[in-house]
Amino acid sequence: MKIARFSHGETMSYGILDEEEHEFVVLKSDPLFAGYDPTGERVPVAEAKLLAPVIPRSKIVAVGKNYRDHAAEMGGEAPSEPLLFLKPNTSIIGPGDAIVLPKQSEQVEHEGELAVIIGRVAKHVAVEDALDIVFGYTIANDVTARDLQRRDGQWTRAKSFDTFCPLGPIVDTELDLAAGSIETSVNGERRQEGRFADMVHPVAEIIAYASSVFTLLPGDVILTGTPAGVGPLVAGDTVEVTVPGLGTLANPVRAAG
Ligand code: ZN
Repeated sequence: MKIARFSHGETMSYGILDEEEHEFVVLKSDPLFAGYDPTGERVPVAEAKLLAPVIPRSKIVAVGKNYRDHAAEMGGEAPSEPLLFLKPNTSIIGPGDAIVLPKQSEQVEHEGELAVIIGRVAKHVAVEDALDIVFGYTIANDVTARDLQRRDGQWTRAKSFDTFCPLGPIVDTELDLAAGSIETSVNGERRQEGRFADMVHPVAEIIAYASSVFTLLPGDVILTGTPAGVGPLVAGDTVEVTVPGLGTLANPVRAAG
């Protein structure tokens, strides 16, 4: 099932995508908390402005260097345990919203990533049970100020500027992780490509590991790392991250005004 959060006129709604009719079946409330109760209304996809599918109340957990080829391009090996960091929920923007280049950085880079949305409260989840707590999957861009990441020695500032976590366009409650892949392009030119099967720490292991540290709450988002090919974004660019089955997350880039 494919779900979106969108605005239509003055109202914000959640809907289930009807791919044949190109319409959203409007839901009474957020399906993360209230299930799939339809209002009876339908909205054509073309009339809906898609929003970030979720704004976590609690946290975005991210994993660094989770593809060997990316760890190598960063000048190191993939860590033996998942390398966790956090991004604030204020970094989230939706599909089509602009990534704003902060004045403090001269090297902002894209990191296309698979995002996991947690559906249930979970602590100390076993790897074999971890996928059961997933609400669904979407696409993220873990935008990073690479110069500040190097300079600060830890990653909070580099990863946390407003607009540094584009998310969307839709959530799919089912995704074939074994066969899945991700591709990032800038202005139509491919920069990054990876297969989920090549993650050093697979999705279930990341969830289990994160849940041994934090209590995971419904709506928490986990970013699962980026493949090789990270590179700069400059004002005027459009960056697109595509996962077959989840669509394309496209965002323009502009300078701070
Ligand atoms: Zn990342």
